[in-house]
Amino acid sequence: MDESKTILVTGGTGLVGEAIKQLVTSQKRTNEKWVFVSSKDANLCDLDQTRELFKKHKPTHVIHLAAKVGGLFDNMSNNLDFLKDNLHINDNVLQASYENGVKKVVSCLSTCIFPDKTSYPIDETMVHNGPPHNSNFGYSHAKRMVDVMNKAYHEKYGCQFTSVIPCNVFGPHDNYNLKSGHVIPALIRKFFDVIQTGGTQFTVYGSGKPLRQFIYSKDLAKLFVWVLFEYNEIEPIILAVDESDEVTIKQVAEEILKAYNYKGELIFDTSKADGQYKKTASNSKLRKYLPDFEFTSFDSAVKDSVEWYQKNHATARN
Ligand code: NAP
Ligand code: GDP
Repeated sequence: MDESKTILVTGGTGLVGEAIKQLVTSQKRTNEKWVFVSSKDANLCDLDQTRELFKKHKPTHVIHLAAKVGGLFDNMSNNLDFLKDNLHINDNVLQASYENGVKKVVSCLSTCIFPDKTSYPIDETMVHNGPPHNSNFGYSHAKRMVDVMNKAYHEKYGCQFTSVIPCNVFGPHDNYNLKSGHVIPALIRKFFDVIQTGGTQFTVYGSGKPLRQFIYSKDLAKLFVWVLFEYNEIEPIILAVDESDEVTIKQVAEEILKAYNYKGELIFDTSKADGQYKKTASNSKLRKYLPDFEFTSFDSAVKDSVEWYQKNHATARN
């Protein structure tokens, strides 16, 4: 007989957390209680509050998403905060998980933590091979330490703490703030505002040439649940679309404009940073486990995300 499980999702109100919530509540899942928490339930930078949260919910499993997260421009101006907040949050969550005998923790890294100077495609063995891109070194070093902690907890106590490495994520419930958001939510919002005022010029920061792989949050949610229950390694696993699905920022902007069904001129503001040129990651480890996993096509995921924002812009995180 299956033992009942309590799955605590930290960062449960963010982009990825909301997608997991939507997935598991739309399925008939037995013997599972899912608890989605935000910073309002506990500030995970604080060990006492983290311990209280774990005492209250007594999780058997944890999906650890909570993090100080931001786009290129937020990272560039706040490396110290990204470093410190994420170091504290991750240390506290793993400590409380260990103290409470949590059976499995899946934490979330990101492909932007990989070395800047590297060969491509990047794979899971390369996380610690050299310094990350200078724009987000604080966030990157804090996230890299999760992998180190997972290994150390396993070595000392046999804990099943692992991590996933998603490429850039987008979807409903994203952060649409122009200062702190990532490129897709920022452009969805900027373009919405231009269209509202009948404008025809759409500004994109940087040259539009950098390359990115984007995963739809609803696809990532399915992969997270698979990792939680089926993936048994401590080593991280990259959760990314195929390398052939990599797109330029210019293509992203064109796709968003197409989703709005609107014609206009894209202006590239090259006084703004491009960030890392590319971080092409290999999903061959994932493909070995799940050869038939089907990712939502980029154009239909962008269309869904734009439609979601059109319906929800008044209450979205702006
Ligand atoms: P998000 O939308 O910004 O949500 C962040 C979540 O973390 C929110 O629920 C937030 O709660 C919570 N949180 C932040 N600081 C906290 C604190 N001090 N204590 C407790 N909770 C706190 O982030 P996301 O995009 O879903 O990212 C989820 C995970 O994926 C993160 O670990 C991120 O590093 C990783 N990731 C994201 C991307 C991407 O493109 N977005 C790419 C790769 C990896 P409040 O709402 O209460 O603030
Ligand atoms: P990154 O993947 O970690 O670099 O994070 P972002 O999603 O913030 O940025 C990706 C790329 O999009 C960079 O090359 C930016 O220059 C470009 N970009 C274009 N317009 C915007 C914008 O309005 N906001 C953000 N965050 N990035 C933009």
